[in-house]
This record gives sequence, structure tokens and C-alpha cells, in this order.
Amino acid sequence: MRRKNIYLLLGSNLGDRPANLASAREAIRAAAGPILNTSAVYRTEAWGKTDQPEFLNQVVEVETDLDPEALLETLMDIERQMGRERSERWAPRTIDLDILYYGQDVVQTARLMLPHPGIPDRRFTLVPLAEIAPDFVHPQYGKTNQQLLRACYDLLTVREYY
Ligand code: ATP
Ligand code: CA
Ligand code: CA
Repeated sequence: MRRKNIYLLLGSNLGDRPANLASAREAIRAAAGPILNTSAVYRTEAWGKTDQPEFLNQVVEVETDLDPEALLETLMDIERQMGRERSERWAPRTIDLDILYYGQDVVQTARLMLPHPGIPDRRFTLVPLAEIAPDFVHPQYGKTNQQLLRACYDLLTVREYY
């Protein structure tokens, strides 16, 4: 059964970043299902490990019949196919694909956390999320993306990328 309200965060800070986001969207469409909604592309200073190039980020809503585990596998395959080297956490990467929300599902395993635990702390995630899904309610906090964004204390600047 195809499910909606599945939001993915795409990120790139290495190589031709807009082209990497475009390739990822195409690969997601082919392997997971149609993209229902796309945020603008935003640029953000690197988070966590700040001595590296600026990130481009975008949130997309997909409609998929993959369950959460299969979706994660599919996204990791796409990352590998796009030449992502896995080194340390938050290292520069051609592409990073995170599952932000899978509907109202809550999953807490070593491999998969849903919703993504970084959402409330990351302006670069909340700004594009609030753009395309302002009224979607976080299943654990009971707050909308718009409310989470207003309460977010992250100071890193997020600007629209042209
Ligand atoms: P962060 O998750 O803090 O944004 P990151 O994206 O740099 O950091 P990665 O190295 O890409 O981290 O992924 C580390 C692990 O996170 C993956 O191997 C994956 O199993 C796990 N993971 C847990 N929850 C999720 C999720 N919701 N979406 C994507 N990966 C997840
Ligand atoms: Ca990430
Ligand atoms: Ca990731």
C-alpha cells in the first residue's frame, strides 16, 4: 500500500551540489516512488563539524510502498551508487539521504530512528520542512513543524539558494 507524509532530507556539500540533489531526486523517484512535494534548495553552514564547505539541503515528500527498513536500505544504496564515502560522522559528502518522518511511525532501533532525532535542533531541516509541511505534527512532540521551527534555538543561518 502506498503511504504518504514521508519526508526525506537531501544534503550535499561536495562536488556539483545542485546536480547531486537532482540525481538523488531522480534515483528516489525510480526506486522509492513519486515525489509529491519539493521544497526550495537552501544553503547552510556545515552543522556539527564546521570546518567544511557549506551544505545544500532540500526536503521532499515521497509516496512509497516501501516499509521504513526497505526505504532506508534503498536510500543507502543510492548514497553508495552516488559515490558517497563513509568516513566519520558529519564528514563532507556528495549526498546524504535521511528519513525525517515516515507518517506518524515511531521507530527506535540502532539502525533506524523515526522521526529523525535531529529535527527539532536543526534549522536546516526545519526551514524546508516548514515550507512544504508547516502543519504536519511531530508524533513524539505533538507540535507542528512550524511550531518546532519557532522554538528552534539553532543559530546557523539558512538561506534560499539560487
Ligand atoms: P545525522 O543522522 O545526525 O544527520 P549523518 O546523516 O551524517 O548524521 P550517517 O553517517 O549518514 O549520519 O548515518 C549514520 C546511520 O544513521 C546510518 O547508518 C543509519 O543506519 C542511521 N539512521 C538512523 N535513523 C535514520 C534515519 N531516520 N534516516 C537515515 N539514517 C538513519
Ligand atoms: Ca544527516
Ligand atoms: Ca544520513
